[in-house]
Amino acid sequence: MVGSPNDVPDRILRNGRLADGRHVDVHVSAGTVVDVSPTGTGDGHPDVPTTDLAGWLLVGAPAEPHAHLDKALTAEQVPNPAGDLMGAIRAWMAEAEAGTFTHDDVVGRATTALEMLLVRGVTAVRTHVNVGAGEDFLRGVREARQRMADLMDVQIVALTSNPITGSEGRANREALATALEIGVDLVGGCPHLDPDGTTLMVDAFAAATDAGIGLDLHVDEMLDPDVLFLRDLARMTLEKGFGNGVTASHCVTLGLQAPDVRDAVAREVAEAGIGVVALPQTNLFLQGRDHPVATPRGLTAVAALVDAGATVCAGADNVQDPFNLVGRSDPLETAALMVMAGHRLPDEAFSMVGEHARACMDLPPAGPTVGAVADLLAIDAPSIRGAVADAPMSRRVFRGGELVASVDQEARIHR
Ligand SMILES: [Zn+2]
Repeated sequence: MVGSPNDVPDRILRNGRLADGRHVDVHVSAGTVVDVSPTGTGDGHPDVPTTDLAGWLLVGAPAEPHAHLDKALTAEQVPNPAGDLMGAIRAWMAEAEAGTFTHDDVVGRATTALEMLLVRGVTAVRTHVNVGAGEDFLRGVREARQRMADLMDVQIVALTSNPITGSEGRANREALATALEIGVDLVGGCPHLDPDGTTLMVDAFAAATDAGIGLDLHVDEMLDPDVLFLRDLARMTLEKGFGNGVTASHCVTLGLQAPDVRDAVAREVAEAGIGVVALPQTNLFLQGRDHPVATPRGLTAVAALVDAGATVCAGADNVQDPFNLVGRSDPLETAALMVMAGHRLPDEAFSMVGEHARACMDLPPAGPTVGAVADLLAIDAPSIRGAVADAPMSRRVFRGGELVASVDQEARIHR
């Protein structure tokens, strides 16, 4: 067990290799990096315990800005024959209403999903939890978070069911109120799936304002270019002067707009300070199934958003559930998809699962830099590009400078 970062003694992580090739010793005090010196040249600190990193690549620990811990690892329990978003939602809600998922089942799967992330280097996770299918999912994910509290930070978004507006939406509005009473960190929702998405967003801002928390909405997770709630979200954020943080996840239809509209909306998103989460795994799996020719990838307009100055990060979204049958909870898998499907260079793709993900989650920077949080990943890789390409599993994960997970990969060729 590890105490809170302020309780732990100083530590020096020796002989890590920075992305620029320099070998360094990193001195951590009270969970923060206080010195980075060329290996062997530090001021000695003979009393400070050291951990040898053996020259492995040393980077800031990745973060996962968009998970669904309540749904993770149900691919066998919840078949989705249609393979698309509505098929997945219908399949999930039917099993939830049938009582397939017990409290212990939710706690166990959510804990396993967090452990999968942690051993791959992730020390901060934002998860959406479906609050329209009963309290057990939120209570179960909260219990899993408590189990992992000494190891990683977990933020919970109340993902509401639709409709949540109008007379039909009463039960789902009550479910959100209950979730806010139980305790969540952000208000979520899906305006593109509601009969009145604009009212959904107005109500979501009001609920988040009342609770003093931020917003993280699934926005425009579809291929209809006439749907563009992202623009309304940007304008509402500015008009309301909302200061608790707004995140827009998916933003698929921005990628379908004419260049002038796309660029104008991207500028509004940047001006509003909205963090955008690109989610290649689930978009590639769910979107485009009714476009058998020139099948669209379903990713948001990453380049336009970056060029406009918006903060763009990337997440792994669903892991082995009806929304995505595969996925291995590895930010390096997500970064690789941002290279292959999102056309970013490897270093930038890695920053989208690292520093940009933490920024979207409103967390301070982490990394081998003086003043940064000492959440670090050491990985046996030749470079960031090599790490993204090969995703080697020889890794050491540090939270506040303390070792919280280690994996060693061994391969043999028998001639
Ligand atoms: Zn999602």
